[in-house]
Amino acid sequence: MSDQEPKTSARRDSPLAAARATLRRGFKHAAVEFLSLGWRISRRQDKALARPRVQIAVLHHVEIEMRRAFAAWLGELSKVCTFVSYSQAVERAIHGPIDKPMLAFSFDDGFRSCLGAAEVMRDFGATACHFINPRIVDERDPEIIRAWRTRLRLRHNDGHMNWDELASLIDLGHEIGNHSMDHQNLGLPTTDLAEQIIRSKHIITQKLGIAHPHFAWPYGSIARFSIDAKRTVYESGHASCASSLRGAHVEPAGSTERLCLRRDHTWFRLPVHHNLVLLARSAQRASPADNHWPAPLSD
Ligand SMILES: [Zn+2]
Repeated sequence: MSDQEPKTSARRDSPLAAARATLRRGFKHAAVEFLSLGWRISRRQDKALARPRVQIAVLHHVEIEMRRAFAAWLGELSKVCTFVSYSQAVERAIHGPIDKPMLAFSFDDGFRSCLGAAEVMRDFGATACHFINPRIVDERDPEIIRAWRTRLRLRHNDGHMNWDELASLIDLGHEIGNHSMDHQNLGLPTTDLAEQIIRSKHIITQKLGIAHPHFAWPYGSIARFSIDAKRTVYESGHASCASSLRGAHVEPAGSTERLCLRRDHTWFRLPVHHNLVLLARSAQRASPADNHWPAPLSD
């Protein structure tokens, strides 16, 4: 999963570290299972999901074997939430009204399985914003693709969409957003922000005719972004800026620059009921503070 925090190879390769990671995953799985059971029995999950808010799920890939779980998850959510487009979610999060449970979807990194996911979403009247890295779109050189996959630690076989496939998603009502040129750490002072943010946007505008795409920074954590990167995003005319911090928006932010969009990670390696309770927990915990830019990104 490319938007998880990268770990050093020494830590990743150590058998002890691997055993610890497996144990940690086991405890986490058991904790979420326990949480889910309690919340379903008490109907707390339904109440939380029915809370008026703007919430955005972020996914990466939905390969063929995951589609049934993806459809089941959408089916459950469609009973309690109104599905809105990404732009509608941003509009409501900035200007309101936030008068019902609204859920939008986003996919990061532009994997080809998103085309199949879009077919599933069509049955539910749902669309998504797909955040892409222009450098890898249409890339055919196997060495470059191999280096990209190694750097982003991709373990699945999903390839990347080309420009024609991205255009076909737009035809289905989906949106395409900017995820930086090369999926780099935008929090490093050495990162070329003009290349990563402005040129990347320019290519998306040229190729797909989107004048003001949404932006979501790679990895999504506070440590992977900077005040300068944030300023560059807004000054270059993006429609919004999204993190991968969990949360939801319960009050209008009032302006684009005052809104640090929250997004909730969803993985279909996890059971459907885990993904439901994690969304529900974010919905229940959401407060007006979820709009704010956390330090050190607040001006
Ligand atoms: Zn990413």
